Amino acid sequence: MTIRDSVSATTEPMTLAFEVTVSSVQELSPNFRRITFGGYCLRDFGVRGDTLDLRIKLMIPSLAEDGTEIPLPVFEMAEAGWYREWLAMDPAVKGSMRTYTVRQARLDEVYPEIDVDFVMHFDEPGHAQTKPGPAANWALNAKPGDAITIIGPNNRAAHCFTAEIYSGIEWRPGLAQRVLLAGDETAIPAISAILESLPHYMTGHAFLEVPEAGDFLELTSPADVEITWLARGASIGRSRPHGELLREAVRKAVPVPGWVGIKAADGGAGPEPEDVNVDVDILWETPTRMETAEIQATKNPDMPSGAMPFYAWIAGEAAVIKDMRRYLVRDVGIDRKQVAFMGYWRQGKAEG
Ligand SMILES: Cc1cc2nc3c(=O)[nH]c(=O)nc-3n(C[C@H](O)[C@H](O)[C@H](O)COP(=O)(O)OP(=O)(O)OC[C@H]3O[C@@H](n4cnc5c(N)ncnc54)[C@H](O)[C@@H]3O)c2cc1C
Repeated sequence: MTIRDSVSATTEPMTLAFEVTVSSVQELSPNFRRITFGGYCLRDFGVRGDTLDLRIKLMIPSLAEDGTEIPLPVFEMAEAGWYREWLAMDPAVKGSMRTYTVRQARLDEVYPEIDVDFVMHFDEPGHAQTKPGPAANWALNAKPGDAITIIGPNNRAAHCFTAEIYSGIEWRPGLAQRVLLAGDETAIPAISAILESLPHYMTGHAFLEVPEAGDFLELTSPADVEITWLARGASIGRSRPHGELLREAVRKAVPVPGWVGIKAADGGAGPEPEDVNVDVDILWETPTRMETAEIQATKNPDMPSGAMPFYAWIAGEAAVIKDMRRYLVRDVGIDRKQVAFMGYWRQGKAEG
């Protein structure tokens, strides 16, 4: 029986709804707010191993005209079809579902808790002022004791799967020893958690773009990865457009012609990736785990014996990620099996 078979053979659902309450709210920086969620139910939360870029869904209650929260509908997650049922509900009462990352989990404590770092995106410079989304607005007003529902991994099913194959985790470097991590503020929680869990033998770069220098956070990694923070600028009108610094940094770190050892087998530029209309579709292109045979096949004879290929993980605003995908795949010629491209949000569009 394979691992996947054993997962489907269990009666446990892969995900559960966790009704948690806010334990604390902490201002990490001008644009990041950490909200710690706690609940005894979190004893059933988690994957085996590090949480890496583990994504969860937050159910944000709708607000009535008087500003009070409308109770969220209750669904039995184990029953197929609950999501379709939820989608079909009246938008005024069903609440909003938004995707976030587990920044840190303390699940073995007597009172288990998880931290989620929210970006306070209210007036992105250079763009028309957007109404705060339900998640950012909820986080702005959150206080200890507030209740919310999180949809996340069921650890009773997790004994059958590892972090590497759970579908809520995309970080799958295989045997790569050299990595590139790049992301905007929404990807900082994921990149931070990934960096903390990297093995010491990994090398590479991490580029993190944030609104302002006050958002540079303390990060640690056992790996030899160079961490570069990029600040767009503090004041409206004078800051750099979203993603510009990230694009420049990635182009500098991975120039054309590309790094030795990361280009497609023929050594030339790669194919034009199929177009993704980020206004309509989700940009989400992540390789499945590379099998050892494939890794051996992509090994470059120019690299020192035993050196394994490069792996990149790139997430942020969809149009910016689309541009980087085109650059890395078409211009540099990196094999798509070695890069995860993820549009975490879309400028001017609400999630969902
Ligand atoms: C796998 C994954 C993990 C994520 N992890 C995190 C995380 O840990 N922390 C985090 O803060 N975000 C994270 N995000 C991004 C988050 O889901 C989006 O920013 C989401 O749109 C926020 O929901 P909202 O209700 O606040 O705004 P929405 O209702 O979705 O959008 C309302 C408006 O705000 C704009 N908007 C949304 N996000 C931003 C932003 N960051 N900056 C500027 N304008 C924005 C939209 O373009 C839209 O115009 C993650 C996304 C994914 C897919």
